[in-house]
Amino acid sequence: MKKERPNSFVIAEAGKCIGCKACELACFAVHNRDNGVAAAVGTVTTPVIPRLYVIRTDSFTMPVQCRHCENAPCAGVCPVQAIQQEEGAITIDEDRCIGCKACAMACPFGAISLYKAYSSGQEHKQPHLRERLDGHLERKTRVIAYKCDLCHDIVSDGNTASGEIAAAGRVTDISKGDMTVGPVPACVSVCPEQALTLVSPSLGASRSRKAAGLRL
Ligand code: SF4
Ligand code: SF4
Repeated sequence: MKKERPNSFVIAEAGKCIGCKACELACFAVHNRDNGVAAAVGTVTTPVIPRLYVIRTDSFTMPVQCRHCENAPCAGVCPVQAIQQEEGAITIDEDRCIGCKACAMACPFGAISLYKAYSSGQEHKQPHLRERLDGHLERKTRVIAYKCDLCHDIVSDGNTASGEIAAAGRVTDISKGDMTVGPVPACVSVCPEQALTLVSPSLGASRSRKAAGLRL
């Protein structure tokens, strides 16, 4: 029988977060290499679309992102099976997405947003749908669903965001505490306050045991 394991996810500590939004920018940069975006000034040629969002109230700031639910409601409602589970993460096949918004409505965390699709720095156009603009008909831009994918492709390539951004001088210390377990998502790597933690199944278990041991 296939052995199931829980998905990984990133948690945030509101008490540590200073609301700097470095996590949003790092997320945007690593997901937009195809659009020519890098971790450097002057390379941002498309709208900044992160896959996590720093929320701010009168008393705290912290980022909110996909929890990679075990029984993911977004996957259940997607009419074109664009959402799947891959190696401990819930991911969206953006080529397959039709922008119907069902997943965004089903997500209990508000972690999915719909925005225009870009590649090579250009808006994707719909092959069949046109919109009327200033009396003219123009091909409409595709809109797709975006959400945290735990930097799935980036990490599995062994090409971690942390390495690149550290090379650009934007990481002061990524080897603190639990961050020594291997590749981590871009947001976790760049947070200057170590407010973000990647919780993987094995890490979660070891942390629980450690906490239980300390309570003895
Ligand atoms: S990078 Fe860290 S401190 Fe800055 S907004 Fe994100 S979680 Fe908060
Ligand atoms: S917006 Fe895209 S990913 Fe979300 S349910 Fe519709 S087709 Fe699926």
